[in-house]
Amino acid sequence: MSLQKVEFVDTHGSVVRKCPGTKRHICCGYQTIDLVEGCVLSCSYCILKAYLKDDVIRISRNSDAIIAELDEIIDGCGDHILRFGTGELSDSLAIDRRYGLNRFLVEYFGRKKKAILELKSKWADFRHLEPFLNPCTVISFSVSPQRFIDAEETRTSPLRKRLKAARLAQDRGCFVGLHFDPVVIYDGFEKDYRYLIADIGRILDPAKIIWISLGTLRFPPPLYGLLLERRRKYLLTGEFIRGEDGKYRYIKTERIRIYRMLYRLLKSIDSNLFVYLCMERADVWREALGIEMKDNESLMGLFDERIKNVYGGTL
Ligand code: SF4
Repeated sequence: MSLQKVEFVDTHGSVVRKCPGTKRHICCGYQTIDLVEGCVLSCSYCILKAYLKDDVIRISRNSDAIIAELDEIIDGCGDHILRFGTGELSDSLAIDRRYGLNRFLVEYFGRKKKAILELKSKWADFRHLEPFLNPCTVISFSVSPQRFIDAEETRTSPLRKRLKAARLAQDRGCFVGLHFDPVVIYDGFEKDYRYLIADIGRILDPAKIIWISLGTLRFPPPLYGLLLERRRKYLLTGEFIRGEDGKYRYIKTERIRIYRMLYRLLKSIDSNLFVYLCMERADVWREALGIEMKDNESLMGLFDERIKNVYGGTL
């Protein structure tokens, strides 16, 4: 799929990290396992372009050290049911079939039964993992209208394939997650999202969607320059402000309008869907979803409750 160079590296030190969060924005307490750094899918807006020094794909080969790190973190946490993901500095599934990267983690979380592994992807193929899947693995897909995928995520799987793969994961006994991220303003995006959410309602079993995140487009200044240079029309419609964290994002009234619309559409599929905002402030939570979200701890508490409800005490 790609001509990018791949290197196997011995990572010294920590590979498991708390999501760094964003100043004065509410973070869900997610932890990342940085198994792979770099991504072959090359989405035009990818934030990695601003953070990584080159486009080499670096794969950590220290599985024993990663397991030891996970054991220490999971066993030392009495307060929350922790959630981990490998899709932060890469896509969880894009090169997984070829390199067999996630299997040891899927098996580890299945044995441990105390925390959740989320494989987050835009690549609709996890069949190689099927024999090892267990309920402690959540298969998640980022979703966007096909028109946007065609323009800005050209190497990824089409929306329909992602939704079909999500359905397959549900049929194999896994919960799935959906990530509306980045939600992007362009001419006619509202209608496209209406169709997208109708497809979700038709294809997926809502009772097996464990969570849905909403996050509008945001990017650090170097990436903004790059997008301007490349005249990415889908990514530059709308009015941006620079937030307290230095990142560009849509103005607050627009973000609220988008979240309200998506929340209403999703809840019309099933009012029990668990929908959360990724990296938003308490005032936006209140105005968009009508939820008083005081701080990170409150959101982590909601996740604990959600997990207990859907797993019925088996975790
Ligand atoms: S799939 Fe994710 S990590 Fe990979 S290029 Fe796209 S945005 Fe970046």
